[in-house]
Amino acid sequence: MTIRTRFAPSPNGSLHLGHAYAALVAHDLARERGGEFLLRIEDIDGTRTRADLVPEMLADLAWLGLEWDGSVVFQSQRLENYAAAGERLKAMGLLYPCQCTRAEVLAAATEFGPDGPVYPGTCRGRDVSTEGAAWRLDMAKATALAGPLTWTDELAGVQQASPELFGDVVLLRKEAPASYHLAATLDDAAQGITLVTRGADLFASTHVHVLLGRLLQLCAPLYHHHLLLVEADGKKLAKRRGSPALAQLRRAGEDGRALADTLRERRFPAGLSLGSGVDGAP
Ligand code: GLU
Repeated sequence: MTIRTRFAPSPNGSLHLGHAYAALVAHDLARERGGEFLLRIEDIDGTRTRADLVPEMLADLAWLGLEWDGSVVFQSQRLENYAAAGERLKAMGLLYPCQCTRAEVLAAATEFGPDGPVYPGTCRGRDVSTEGAAWRLDMAKATALAGPLTWTDELAGVQQASPELFGDVVLLRKEAPASYHLAATLDDAAQGITLVTRGADLFASTHVHVLLGRLLQLCAPLYHHHLLLVEADGKKLAKRRGSPALAQLRRAGEDGRALADTLRERRFPAGLSLGSGVDGAP
């Protein structure tokens, strides 16, 4: 089987060294094993996406010496696929409309999950207007239907899927046509990704993706959650916290291929190291 990985940045901000590291992991794992490396632009968050960043991102990757296979996939061009999957899940009785605002959810939540407050189920089983509603997955129904699930991370081994940690996640919503969980799961399958590589901060998300994959009868990939480049305080790199954009380094005349090699050798700039990127974890 040909291995196929992908790098899937969201054009919400410029790429920085953390993205460069993630892209190198995906690229090098594919190339070392004679496989393919694909590129997907996750540009469906209408409130945060900046289309002008996309050409810059492609130039950054080329500057690092990374070549991708095939054409770039844009999530904004795949909206009907997400809507169709949403309709399938609705027809299975697994989604319900929710009109709660973020503030209401926060005020009513008593538990916190990997994505923030766990939805307390306010709209579940109620006659709620579908007009402008967000659609949530009825997690108890979905997990009962799917039965016990496992997935495998190349580094961490076999995992019992625990999507219930997230509660009733939103899969379709007003401002973005599909949630990250739904779009990424569908796209990884549609692009034939066999090895999903991404940062350890998204490890828990995989529980939800594996559940959605089973419900939608998609092929199950292997996973590889790598450590992230973190700052001295253990927090993920962020441009707003002073990490330089790759585009800035590129324009300043730095050698991108040489930079890629230093990241490969794990010779990171002062103060940076590898960590989980998750607060409170090593
Ligand atoms: N678009 C996500 C990000 O930029 C990555 C998603 C993934 O690799 O599954 O953080």
